[in-house]
Amino acid sequence: MERLAIDGGTPVRDGVLGYGRQDVSEGDIQAVVDTLRSDFLTCGPATERFESAIKDAVGAGYVTAVANGTAALHVACLAAGVGPGDEVVVSPVTFAASANCVLYCGGTPVFADIDPLTWNVSPESIREKVTGRTKAVVAVDFGGVPVDHDAIRAVCDEFGLAFIEDAAHAVGTSRAGRPVGSIADLTCFSFHPVKTVTTGEGGAVCTNDPGLAARVALFAKHGITRDRSLMRESDEGGWHYEQLELGYNYRISDIEAALGASQMARLPEFTRRRQEIVAHYNKEFAGIPEVSFQKDESPEETTRHLYCLRFDLEALGTTRRFVYDALRAEGIGVNVHYLPVYRLPYYADLGYDPACCPEANRYYEEAVTLPLHCRMSDSDAEDVVRAVRKVVKACRTRKEAAL
Ligand SMILES: *Cc1c(COP(=O)(O)O)cnc(C)c1O
Repeated sequence: MERLAIDGGTPVRDGVLGYGRQDVSEGDIQAVVDTLRSDFLTCGPATERFESAIKDAVGAGYVTAVANGTAALHVACLAAGVGPGDEVVVSPVTFAASANCVLYCGGTPVFADIDPLTWNVSPESIREKVTGRTKAVVAVDFGGVPVDHDAIRAVCDEFGLAFIEDAAHAVGTSRAGRPVGSIADLTCFSFHPVKTVTTGEGGAVCTNDPGLAARVALFAKHGITRDRSLMRESDEGGWHYEQLELGYNYRISDIEAALGASQMARLPEFTRRRQEIVAHYNKEFAGIPEVSFQKDESPEETTRHLYCLRFDLEALGTTRRFVYDALRAEGIGVNVHYLPVYRLPYYADLGYDPACCPEANRYYEEAVTLPLHCRMSDSDAEDVVRAVRKVVKACRTRKEAAL
């Protein structure tokens, strides 16, 4: 048996292959430089170009680009009317921002459990968590695999809830021909460098509802409008504007939007490359009984952001800590997505029960995120597979030796 790097053996690779990274082309760089030489660094044509590129790609009626994905979620909750006393049912296995946005509005996040195979929030669990105070649902497309839109829509319609989709992982994903961004009441994207499309920092809110779109734009721009149809005094003069809500400065700059517009043109290329790597991983890992990967009913429509593997720790006689450390020692920059939000200390202090979502907890204990990004070569992906095989084999051997 090959000696593991963690035990002093030769690592699969020198250096560390990170789990995610941006892919910025010379064309992307030129687009940013052109904007720096132009008249507008914010609120200019690059922001308009970026918003229409998103609109065209995801089939949304209205798009507001904002400063980051967290700001997108915040204004989406505000537009949906989330306020003090309201509850919002949220996915538990996600980045904290999916729930923090509810707290920003004075509302209370309530966590629904996940499906054990898709790792996405379970529509049945959402239904169980609905009370008379529930106002909305924030459902996360984990890793880029979309939530069950139809089932969640049915629950939202039955109880009169707003369907907010946290699609930070899912730009480019479609289901049954409908792109994510055109399905929920409000869809939020993030363009952080680790995500599929990047602007450095950036986000967007998509909707097909003109009323919601107007509220999103208002909350993202100080609550201030020059739209005469919204103003109370329509005849003050051409200089006149009004603040109608307590909004925020969540604008994206034209520098960032120029990068975003250029990146959006490359989305089909990003989708293809990510699909190739995911297909390769799935094929290889299907042959290892102690690991399982995320169920995706139609991978040809998915743009994957994360590739996570679950390790059957009992079968391997090991711990996730060991698997993680051993893969890192092999030069594979693994990560873990995510500690369930309700177990973060801030949420624990708010009184959340650490056992409230048993499937989410089970998932978290076994999960390791493998590298997935467009700058990876086929041989990088092969290194990841080799390292996983090597660590699994070593665990099997140790377990047999201990018996
Ligand atoms: C990245 C991310 C966010 C936040 O996006 P930022 O652009 O970093 O603010 C929100 N939700 C999920 C699921 C994310 O992965």
